[in-house]
Amino acid sequence: MTDDGWHRAAAAAARRLRSERGLDDRCVVTASFRGPVVCFGDLHLPVGPGTDVAAPEDLHAVLDEAVAWERAAGPGRWLPRDQETVDRLWTEATASVPLYRLAGQLLAADLERTTRQSLTWTVTVTASSEPQYLPAAVPRPPLPTIGVELAFGPDGGGGYSVPVLEPLTLTEAVSELLYVGEDDIIEELWGRWPLCASHVAELVLDEQEGTPVWACPVDQRIWSPVGRLGPGHIQRD
Ligand SMILES: [Zn+2]
Repeated sequence: MTDDGWHRAAAAAARRLRSERGLDDRCVVTASFRGPVVCFGDLHLPVGPGTDVAAPEDLHAVLDEAVAWERAAGPGRWLPRDQETVDRLWTEATASVPLYRLAGQLLAADLERTTRQSLTWTVTVTASSEPQYLPAAVPRPPLPTIGVELAFGPDGGGGYSVPVLEPLTLTEAVSELLYVGEDDIIEELWGRWPLCASHVAELVLDEQEGTPVWACPVDQRIWSPVGRLGPGHIQRD
């Protein structure tokens, strides 16, 4: 790709941003040691092979999205497609809540059966307070954050909410909850959990035919699906 191609693509993208969003930021193509960079106002977008903008025809879409969400002075004119993005993210985040609830129930069942410790996961979707909502001429509506909170015992709770990723599968949801809850679980049980009943090893999460399972890292034995772990998987003295 010659620099001319990027210059033409940058000029075309800038024209479109002016007509659609009413923005006239300075748009230039500069060179870095990694390759060309398209600068639009305060935004700097590396372009070329190995970047989000592999070809000049991709430039407008990526730059437009960066303008919508990252331009310090705001997105200019707020477009229907911006609102569609917001709506889609809220829909997706909300749709992931049942998956997280199920993952939390499975983990709580295992913990209760193996340790008699009761655990509750609370999953909520709230408006993000990320700094992407800098003061702007056109304020952007908040994006969703999925948060989980874990509480031990019947009266536990009131803890903090930890943002988690949007899971695509039940195994991913279990994995994310374990990651978020690991320190609290260790603290509550005074040790790692769950353990292999045959080895001095902590069971690891694996997946079998789409189902999350507990596996031994020593001999790869699958002990049970998550949610159906038998007794004998706690700290041995
Ligand atoms: Zn084992």
